[in-house]
Amino acid sequence: MYFYCEKCKKPYPLNTHSYICECGGMFRLHKDKMDEVHNDITLGEVETPLLPLKVGKLEVLLKLENLQPTGSFKDRGAHALINEINHLGIKKIALDSAGNAGASIAAYAAAAGIECTVYVPDDISPEMSKQIEAYGANIVKVPNGRMSTCAAVKKNLGDAYYASHVYNPLFFEGMRPMAKEIYKQLGDRIPEYIFMPVGNGTMMIGLYQGFMELGRLPHFVAVQSSKCAPLYEAFKVVDEQPKKTTIAHAIRIERPKRITTMLEILKQTGGDVVTVEDAEILKAKKYLGSKGVYVEMTSAAALAGAEKFFAKGKPDNYKVVIPMTGSGLKR
Ligand SMILES: [Zn+2]
Repeated sequence: MYFYCEKCKKPYPLNTHSYICECGGMFRLHKDKMDEVHNDITLGEVETPLLPLKVGKLEVLLKLENLQPTGSFKDRGAHALINEINHLGIKKIALDSAGNAGASIAAYAAAAGIECTVYVPDDISPEMSKQIEAYGANIVKVPNGRMSTCAAVKKNLGDAYYASHVYNPLFFEGMRPMAKEIYKQLGDRIPEYIFMPVGNGTMMIGLYQGFMELGRLPHFVAVQSSKCAPLYEAFKVVDEQPKKTTIAHAIRIERPKRITTMLEILKQTGGDVVTVEDAEILKAKKYLGSKGVYVEMTSAAALAGAEKFFAKGKPDNYKVVIPMTGSGLKR
């Protein structure tokens, strides 16, 4: 296995301290047939259930990723990433995160005995920062939002390996099996639609790779906050709006690094992008709670997006899957 540049194809070893190619291109992962990601470090990751839910006339299936060990889907990526870098003998890592990825990677780093520093925005929820600290990671709070954390970690990496859930393709590798899980749970069937909240696109890109392996693709519908919708603007070719803070913290990514890949995925899957208002997110979160499902705002955003998309109804035989990205206990 090795990384290669998506632009000029130059190869890099997995233990490289570069996080992008010298030409500026993002890395992708090259895997040979025999290559398998290691999995000896575990925190008890689970095959998450698909829970049927009815909202008005709309029937959907919630993929309960909030039930993973640290309470979010990011555990899938962290599991693959930490296992591989542990196998490479790396002992010190740093990353930037709005919260969930930081908690996941810190937890798996703890299990592997790897020193971990997480750069977070200074308005991170106290629950989230307590969780990251509980795993023994060092926290560095950076003012001025999510973009500054990315700049700060890059500037201060030193001898640490950049264990980024955005730059490092090993993270996406961990997301892939989720597609197969959904396929099996539906009785060897690909859902017609999958709605996902999109910030950096980790879930979207990982799921796309997973469904590609299965040979058929659902329509991917990305859901973004109307206050921060860079993918929507690029997909619909509309003017860029000033980006504001939304209650859906995990998707307030102003300039996602892999936006070109995400646009390709939307086109290839006959997908779409929907934006939702904070009020719609709150309403969806309240509804989910009233049905016994307690998730973060970002997960509620995906449900709000599906409701909006299918406002005029959906064909009865369509299966619609909505991953619940994270637990409500975090924020
Ligand atoms: Zn390159």
